[in-house]
Amino acid sequence: MSVTEVVAPQVITHWINGKSVASSSGRSGVVTNPATGQRVAEVSFASAGEVDEAVAAAKAASVEWRATPLSRRAEIMFRLRSLIVDNRQRLAEIISLENGKTIADALGEVARGLENVEFACGIPNLLKGGYSEQVSRGVDIYQIKQPLGVVAGITPFNFPAMVPLWMLSNAIACGNTFLLKPSEKVPSASILISALAKEAGVPDGVLNLIQGDKVAVSRLLEHPDVKAISFVGSTPVARYIYETATRNGKRVQALGGAKNHMLVLPDADISMTADAAVSAGYGAAGERCMAISVVLAVGSVADPLIEAIRERVAKIKVGPGSDITNEMGPLISREHRDRVASYLDSAIAEGATLPIDGRLDPAMKHDGYFLGPSLIDNARPGMQCYDHEIFGPVLSVVRVNSYAEALQLINDNPFGNGTAIFTQNGGAARQFQFDVEVGMVGINVPIPVPVSYYSFGGWKSSLFGDLHMYGPEGVQFYTRSKVVTSRWPDPASSKVDLGFPQV
Ligand code: NAD
Repeated sequence: MSVTEVVAPQVITHWINGKSVASSSGRSGVVTNPATGQRVAEVSFASAGEVDEAVAAAKAASVEWRATPLSRRAEIMFRLRSLIVDNRQRLAEIISLENGKTIADALGEVARGLENVEFACGIPNLLKGGYSEQVSRGVDIYQIKQPLGVVAGITPFNFPAMVPLWMLSNAIACGNTFLLKPSEKVPSASILISALAKEAGVPDGVLNLIQGDKVAVSRLLEHPDVKAISFVGSTPVARYIYETATRNGKRVQALGGAKNHMLVLPDADISMTADAAVSAGYGAAGERCMAISVVLAVGSVADPLIEAIRERVAKIKVGPGSDITNEMGPLISREHRDRVASYLDSAIAEGATLPIDGRLDPAMKHDGYFLGPSLIDNARPGMQCYDHEIFGPVLSVVRVNSYAEALQLINDNPFGNGTAIFTQNGGAARQFQFDVEVGMVGINVPIPVPVSYYSFGGWKSSLFGDLHMYGPEGVQFYTRSKVVTSRWPDPASSKVDLGFPQV
């Protein structure tokens, strides 16, 4: 079956054992183009039995896959990399159609996902263990890393290609077989990735895809043959996934929501800081878990910074991502757009001000789920706009008197995904890096998403589990270590010794 045949259907199917599989569950959802509000396709929702079928395929394939030489696995990852590069425009168009982000932004997402395939190309080196010779007379000890077996990933709507690639690249390169349950709002990008993986040489059953909702997720969380779950999504669901799957004996990394603060010290360059705040606050319509959502303006910096943000926002062109001149697309759904807009009302009612009201943006006249960039000033803890993850194009400014006050706010926040400091003072930045209780920190970098050879993850309610995602910690997550102690003595020297072995 060609790649074209599998990515333009009326009903988006599962991908099990290397082929598209129609669902017989009788349950489905509608995939919508957020830029127009129109239906794109229908997506099947798996039954528990269909999940079992996919797990069985993955389990059967894992016998041969874990025995496949590392050089062959690396070769397949190299080929997958090259196929994704060849198809990146197509992937970006699919992402833009179902998620709404601009093509340029979708291409950026594909590039950041591709990094993880590149990292996994180095799997022979990454799986090297350790060896100690002569730990006792004639005794050696060594550690090896082995795959877990069947592992599963559950992904959110905002990165239809990148987050699946964060997971599946390392999972399969480590010798596991993988089962992906993508967001039902954006199901097609992962179908294309699965078809490309087959073309790259990933054997049937090694990468499987189950479309669906919480019925499919519940089954994955309880299935005895699924050994590990990687999850990315909202905090309440992440907590539920972590608690349920660990109770069922699985290894879990569950990444949740965020409320990312940007601390701006009085010595910051206003122009550069405003560029960064606008890019990180409104890029992808604020639907990034690493988006800046709060600016902590220390002392006199607030007024000039707000003015500089206002100048930049006035030039942002909002509209359908299919028009390459647009810089910001719609939100994922009407319901979500309306919820985001409701924070503007609550902010005013709770005493904040609204220097920029995105509801006045000309894009609001489109049929899609648009909301222009919005700026709330004089926000503070206790207001809904500050206390909740908004996940939309709304930036809140909190005016603070000192670095210490700003730091306290960040450290008191229940989320700890990303943060950034903007300053020209290296000492202050170094102190912030030392003090702040957040997993990913930017110093004059507003969206500090680590490159693929480091690992991605927040602290506190932004991550449940012990290991961050992708990079070295991803390899650790998808393998278990085995330590072998070995000796080859002359049998003639053998004797019974009931004492505890000593060196
Ligand atoms: P979501 O939690 O609603 O959905 C994520 C996945 O969980 C989807 O596949 C969905 O089908 C499934 N799901 C949803 N409700 C479920 C339930 N009750 N039981 C079982 N499964 C369920 O998240 P979303 O709206 O798709 O994505 C946005 C959220 O993801 C935001 O909170 C954002 O901050 C977060 N996010 C976090 C990161 C990160 O790395 N920390 C990255 C991207 C997105």
